[in-house]
Amino acid sequence: MNTTSSTRGGWAKAAAVSALSILGGAALVGAASRMSEPALAQSKSGPLAPELVGDSWLNTPGNRPISLASRRGQVSIVEFWTFGCSNCQANLPAYARWNKQFAASGVQVIGVHTPETSEERSPANVARRVKELGITYPVLIDGQSENWQRWGQRYWPTVYVLDKAGRVRFKWEGELNSGGAGGEKKVAGLVQNLLREPAPATQRADARDAQDAQVDEASIQLVSDDKAPKREARDKGVGHVVKSDAEWKKILTPAQYDVLRQQGTEPPFSGDFHPKKVAGVWRCAGCGLELFRASTMFDSGTGWPSFWQPIAGHVMGRKDADGDRDEILCARCGGHLGHVFNDGPKPTGLRYCMNSVAMKFQPDAKLPAAKK
Ligand SMILES: [Zn+2]
Repeated sequence: MNTTSSTRGGWAKAAAVSALSILGGAALVGAASRMSEPALAQSKSGPLAPELVGDSWLNTPGNRPISLASRRGQVSIVEFWTFGCSNCQANLPAYARWNKQFAASGVQVIGVHTPETSEERSPANVARRVKELGITYPVLIDGQSENWQRWGQRYWPTVYVLDKAGRVRFKWEGELNSGGAGGEKKVAGLVQNLLREPAPATQRADARDAQDAQVDEASIQLVSDDKAPKREARDKGVGHVVKSDAEWKKILTPAQYDVLRQQGTEPPFSGDFHPKKVAGVWRCAGCGLELFRASTMFDSGTGWPSFWQPIAGHVMGRKDADGDRDEILCARCGGHLGHVFNDGPKPTGLRYCMNSVAMKFQPDAKLPAAKK
């Protein structure tokens, strides 16, 4: 843990931001439509874009994967979307226009389809909708949200522009053209500029770095709005549980109430903090929502149950009252669960430090042994 921490020390702040981004993840569907203005960011250099992972592709020759490493020397536009998102659909004509406008310049639009609902999770549905929507550029089916997490994604839709070195130079969250936002024009202008830049001397030298790359948001965007609570933007898919204080007191034990509803912390080494030897899931003790798979649990030595990844969209984050730590809440009932830190193990580098009293472990149901 110490090794991880020291090698990552230089971008600790950025990692904290991407921690929030990750847990925001699916919890923020629809947020873009509620944002007063789409976020805009641009800089002269930028973080190396994480390599796209997964081999489920549409609209490529033989449905073979496209790697960003193979695109070094060319400008790429990567957009995250999901077919059931109306804000994403609103951007589709712009993507089609860019794809056409810049085709001769070697620019490629790449769609990354990260689902939220069970309907969107079906690869067959994605293929059908891609066809129906007339999308002709390559689409990566990000069924497990792996790319979403690696890119520190927060909103659908989000557009990234990558320069010839594979660096993220620009990011746009939300609809491009709503309310005269002018995002489509801005992106097109930036692509024109990037096309005039010289190609990097070594096109594949940093391809390996991209395997471990994360979008270091601090270098492409001011993150001043990250202190804003994001509770209202929770995942519609997990629903809302709202109860009065008196109601919570009735159904929770005093210890559960103290943590979940009063932001308390259980004493270290007091609860159920050992990694599980069986498959299963940790659920919210307040509302029963599934929060963490047992397979993402690890021994952090802190005396609190620790995880490197939540179930996507099932937790949300916000800055603690003191502004120093990133608090983690249940996405359904808003119950306090713990905090997230950036000194966790691979693959995320995150440590979700939870209170075991705020959760309940449920082993996966085992099929009864067949009798002969
Ligand atoms: Zn809950």
